[in-house]
Amino acid sequence: MAETYDADVIVVGSGALGSNAAYELAKAGKSVILLEAGLRIPRWKIVQNSRNSSRRSDYNRPYPDAEWAMTTESEEYLENTGSFALRPGMLKLVGGTTWHWAAATWRYLPADMKLKSTYGVGRDWPISYDDLEPWYQRAEEALGVVGSDEQDQSGQGGPAFPPRSKPYPLPPEGKTYMFQRLEARLSPLGFNFIHEPNARVTKPYDGRPACAGNNNCMPVCPIGAMYSGGFHADHAEAAGAKLLTDATAYKLEKGANGKIVAVHYRTSKGEDVRLTARYFVVAAHGLETPKLLLMSDVANSSDQVGRNLMDHTGIGMHFLADEEVWGGRGAVQQGGIFNRRDGEHRREYAAIKHAIANPVPNPEVAKRLIDQGVLGPELDRRIRDEASRWVEFSTVFEMLPHPTNRVQPHPTKRDALGIPTLTVHYDVDDYVAAARPHAEADFHTFVKGMNGQLIDISEGWQNRDHLMGSVIMGADPKDSVVDGDCRTHDHDNLFLATTGVIPASGVINPTLTGVALSIRIADTIAKEV
Ligand SMILES: Cc1cc2nc3c(=O)[nH]c(=O)nc-3n(C[C@H](O)[C@H](O)[C@H](O)COP(=O)(O)OP(=O)(O)OC[C@H]3O[C@@H](n4cnc5c(N)ncnc54)[C@H](O)[C@@H]3O)c2cc1C
Ligand code: SF4
Repeated sequence: MAETYDADVIVVGSGALGSNAAYELAKAGKSVILLEAGLRIPRWKIVQNSRNSSRRSDYNRPYPDAEWAMTTESEEYLENTGSFALRPGMLKLVGGTTWHWAAATWRYLPADMKLKSTYGVGRDWPISYDDLEPWYQRAEEALGVVGSDEQDQSGQGGPAFPPRSKPYPLPPEGKTYMFQRLEARLSPLGFNFIHEPNARVTKPYDGRPACAGNNNCMPVCPIGAMYSGGFHADHAEAAGAKLLTDATAYKLEKGANGKIVAVHYRTSKGEDVRLTARYFVVAAHGLETPKLLLMSDVANSSDQVGRNLMDHTGIGMHFLADEEVWGGRGAVQQGGIFNRRDGEHRREYAAIKHAIANPVPNPEVAKRLIDQGVLGPELDRRIRDEASRWVEFSTVFEMLPHPTNRVQPHPTKRDALGIPTLTVHYDVDDYVAAARPHAEADFHTFVKGMNGQLIDISEGWQNRDHLMGSVIMGADPKDSVVDGDCRTHDHDNLFLATTGVIPASGVINPTLTGVALSIRIADTIAKEV
């Protein structure tokens, strides 16, 4: 008698990656269950939480941090043991962390994906840019990406690059005044300003209204112009997928012939449920995916699960320009300076991206002035003046994968469900440290070019929320967790849809690549199920 299953495919995690995979599979006529640890929360409620919050600069604040679905917001959930406190933002609700991302949607460069063969450092992807290109296009269409078809995104000032089979789905938004002024004065010094492709639609698209440019993207877009995974969780349901919330997966069960046979989840009331399927996709975020695999003792014959953890560890700089630039108008970021994104220097030190941050600067400006003792009418005057001239650069470095940088289930601590919390060990290496003086030299040139006054260059290193490498992709099952299709080397029917598969970090935000890979996973599974 034929075996019966609860679903053809079970997807764990309803973030942008899991929801896109679930939608594609449901659209292809497969029965799909989508498991989500958190709850479904309507946009209006998150907006209300944000407006009522006394800590507006804390992006996690409007989102619940339930003790049975804890996030990195909780000090007790993530314990750091290395020299750097890696504490990336994450959310647990239907739609996942893209509820409060910045929506930057870059493609990797061909050389990023062949780092070892091009520059002799790090690792190569087992697939090439050309292999992934059709799925990049589909991911951009899914997310409603706006972008310029004319720029060399490698930052070298050449013709449009990397190659595309079709134009961006939507045209770019108008340049903010700040971007225009910095570009006008710094590009004559040789800096290449590149528009940042992003998932903030410039026209009504897939049920979303056009962006109104009011700069609330982090912590939440009030109108849904900015993409979040919740759109595709809804699409997946409409296409027939069954979404189960308050369902934290805590075990993947191994069967015969290297197959996964079931996933076990626990609810906040302590109920345990076992579900079977032909195929499984774990899409539970770059830290939680390796945790689930390690707790289940699956996919780890290489001993690489949880290792090779990378973020785009960064630094930042503030200065006052000699003219009004009016930060805080338009989206939270719009692009930046990419001269050091690619080139021979990557043999010696990390690639560098200088993003121009565009938050409303008034709270930071006011805090700095009050700390200096400025009060009363003088405080008002100085806020008006300095907020109009405030410039912030948010810079990131390319990381290399090191097995010692790792995430693991905590050996002793448990959350309210009795499931281990996280422990992370992270050190910043010499490849990144060697890049820092070059980034700082650029900072001083930017300030000089704007005849400005340097406020500060951050000390130490900063988190950037981009998790990669933790379930690393590679051709060799001995030193990697998944193959070029994101299928685990150890289990034929287990795929990982997470930015954690990315083996070479480059300097660009990883989510579009993750969505492209997720749609590709769905295509592979749809052919086999
Ligand atoms: C402030 C901020 C800004 C960012 N800006 C950008 C940007 O501009 N561009 C970019 O590319 N990236 C950005 N990122 C990163 C981006 O948000 C992530 O790469 C992306 O959300 C990853 O998607 P995901 O689906 O893998 O994970 P998530 O979105 O985190 O979704 C995972 C889901 O799985 C659920 N889950 C976890 N564990 C379990 C379990 N055991 N059982 C069931 N469900 C589980 C979670 O509740 C969650 O809903 C930013 C991140 C932050 C915090
Ligand atoms: S600028 Fe405003 S409308 Fe546009 S994406 Fe950001 S929050 Fe949404």
